[in-house]
Amino acid sequence: MKLIIANWKMNGSIELVKQFSTQKFPENVIFCVPDIYLSFVNNLTLGAQNVSSIPHQYGAYTGEISAKMLKDIGVKYALVGHSERREYFQENNTILKQKIDNLVAQDITPIFCFGEKLEEYQSNQTLSVIENQLEPVVGVKNIILAYEPVWSIGTGIVPKKEDISKVYEFLQKKFAQMPKMVYGGSVNSDNSHEILSTWPVDGVLVGGASLKPDEFQKIIDFAS
Ligand code: PEP
Repeated sequence: MKLIIANWKMNGSIELVKQFSTQKFPENVIFCVPDIYLSFVNNLTLGAQNVSSIPHQYGAYTGEISAKMLKDIGVKYALVGHSERREYFQENNTILKQKIDNLVAQDITPIFCFGEKLEEYQSNQTLSVIENQLEPVVGVKNIILAYEPVWSIGTGIVPKKEDISKVYEFLQKKFAQMPKMVYGGSVNSDNSHEILSTWPVDGVLVGGASLKPDEFQKIIDFAS
């Protein structure tokens, strides 16, 4: 079954959490809601959008939330390396590796996001950029890879199927055991059918459209 991962980012509300919690979703639908809402969610597979890079479960680190705390409230997955965190919070490979180690130690599956910027795509640097971005996941066994070209996030533009195949084949060569790979960037109910049925992907990561219950339900329906 294909994975459908919702990334609410810094959006949503208690009302929206409750609305989704009244429905029954299969386990392959993962809700990455803001941390503050995680413990209000019922019946949904929980994902976090972030985790502390501090290599301790507890301590004097104001504002931080450890992988152990996420585990305690039932989180099964966590996004790591999203382009917004790379850009606005200067998260580099060292920080991302620490986050992955913290998650793996708690048996939480990292959903590792990577992808090139527009100018890198236009100058044919996609594979060299993602090769560098993938450094923190080398040797990590239980991981989901999320290819998210930055130029596709929130823009309404999706790559060509050939672009995805190129990345998929690159990953197949790089990983002895190919992890699951999902695609993210402007997925909606109009394009998800084609993406899920014809692209070489194991699912989709959905931002904006995951905040609209009817729209999101249509995407889930295509995956089942
Ligand atoms: C994202 O930022 O992870 C994402 C997929 O966003 P959107 O679907 O809104 O492009």
